[in-house]
Amino acid sequence: MGLLDQQFENGNVFITSADKLLNWARLSSLWGMQFGLACCAIEMMATGASHYDTDRFGVFFRGTPRQSDVMIVAGTVTLKMASRIKTLYDQMSEPRYVISMGSCSNCGGPYWEHGYHVLKGVDRVIPVDVYVPGCPPRPEALLEGLMKLQEKIRSSSLARKKSA
Ligand code: SF4
Repeated sequence: MGLLDQQFENGNVFITSADKLLNWARLSSLWGMQFGLACCAIEMMATGASHYDTDRFGVFFRGTPRQSDVMIVAGTVTLKMASRIKTLYDQMSEPRYVISMGSCSNCGGPYWEHGYHVLKGVDRVIPVDVYVPGCPPRPEALLEGLMKLQEKIRSSSLARKKSA
């Protein structure tokens, strides 16, 4: 610590970077938007309930996009819903993240070939940070997806974003 070494007697001072502090705050308070599209949403609800308990990761569901920074797209994205999802994403606060949960949201799922009404992947309308595979993914898989997102946030950098 150089010049600062031995300057603070009570030991309550620590030094970190703005990146690390902001990333820690962000990854520890992910607020998910409370909405679901189809069967995968049942698993998402189970993940949020007491047995799996996303609260312990700082993940709470909010009823409005303006108070949410994570969108979990859980279910079949029909063409009719795609524009609504894009609108909700645009209304979310920055920085915002997206988890695509389940085969339907990832690529169209069982509707890949003959589902004329289904979008073949939500990443055609909004950017996706983490894909969770499965039909439906179990709550453990969604928890892992949330932890992957936390890892991604932990390694992100404000400086890199500005220079990009
Ligand atoms: S991936 Fe499977 S479980 Fe999830 S919404 Fe599609 S059909 Fe339902």
